[in-house]
Amino acid sequence: MKEQISPKPRKTLERIKDYTPGKPIWEVREELGLKQVIKLASNENPLGPAPKALEALERCLGELHRYPDAEAVGLRRALAAKLALEEDQLLIGNGADELIRLISETFLEAGDEIVIPAPTFGEYEFGANLMDAAVVSVPLDDGFGLNAAALLAAVNAKTKLVYLCSPNNPTGTYLPQAELELLLAGLPPRTLLIVDAAYGHYATAADYANGLDFVRRGLPVVVLQTFSKIYGLAGLRIGCAAAPAAVIAAIRKVKEPFNVNALAQAAGAAALDDDAFVEASRRMNDEGRRQLYAGFGQLGVTYTESMSNFVLARLGSDAQKLYERLLGKGIIVRNGGSWGLPEHVRITVGTPEENALLLQALGELLAEAGE
Ligand SMILES: *Cc1c(COP(=O)(O)O)cnc(C)c1O
Repeated sequence: MKEQISPKPRKTLERIKDYTPGKPIWEVREELGLKQVIKLASNENPLGPAPKALEALERCLGELHRYPDAEAVGLRRALAAKLALEEDQLLIGNGADELIRLISETFLEAGDEIVIPAPTFGEYEFGANLMDAAVVSVPLDDGFGLNAAALLAAVNAKTKLVYLCSPNNPTGTYLPQAELELLLAGLPPRTLLIVDAAYGHYATAADYANGLDFVRRGLPVVVLQTFSKIYGLAGLRIGCAAAPAAVIAAIRKVKEPFNVNALAQAAGAAALDDDAFVEASRRMNDEGRRQLYAGFGQLGVTYTESMSNFVLARLGSDAQKLYERLLGKGIIVRNGGSWGLPEHVRITVGTPEENALLLQALGELLAEAGE
């Protein structure tokens, strides 16, 4: 039972569900008394933080008594050069999560609607609920494909925002460039498209597009990227929004002045320069995906081919039990229940050794269940 407090929190907060993060390593160590724990639950970079970011962090520790740069000029300059955009087309957030909240605060009035594919990343819904806007969910196709026509069909006069997560979390599927063009072309001017390309760096398909070209062409799109995944900086919280300058100026109005801390700004700019690390991360992920596919194939586990750094695997009606038993063996994956996928788990691609341990543990559990 919920305790009544006075004054009453806003009514719309009743719709907000708790976010369930991937279980932290320390918690599993503590609860289960395990020494070796492998976390494949939050799509973090198994290679650790970008080395150039670590060097930059050491260099700025002595300046921590200063407030950070409110406009993150150094990081925006580096990003603008990297992405071939103008600095006023970029906004940095305390993670892409913050940017989703800021976009919600900028555009959503009570009663407005957002359109999202389902299942997808939970923050879009959170932002809408916060602003008392309604969420219209469009189911993915069979095989979890994103469908531009289906998203467009859900758009009406109240639709302010359409979110497209590509590659999509938790399925790893993506919307090919031609369909992304169709989606944008089909939207009325009153509706803004947000392309969340948090996993764009891992996509290897030739027809994948992260949406940045739309922004370069001056089209009304917001593209989100993050330093939490391929740059290995999830703990520092750095995200980036790219959009036409006027859209960025509007979103900037609702941002706190010092939303991105000084360490994050310095590390982010340095990480952008760490091409060797990004390349190694991409290559390891590519090989890891294939290692997991092959292993799942041998175990008779069906999975969805992924353009991301995780793979959605279908374990059937025992999925919840298998998730718990993997935890018991010190392997943390993500349970599909919160996405309405009770027969699935989402497994982050780890190092070759971590992938092998996951496959071995899963194999043992499936063999026991089959006896
Ligand atoms: C991880 C993730 C993000 C990035 O979140 P941060 O707040 O930058 O850590 C954004 N979108 C999706 C779909 C993600 O999975």
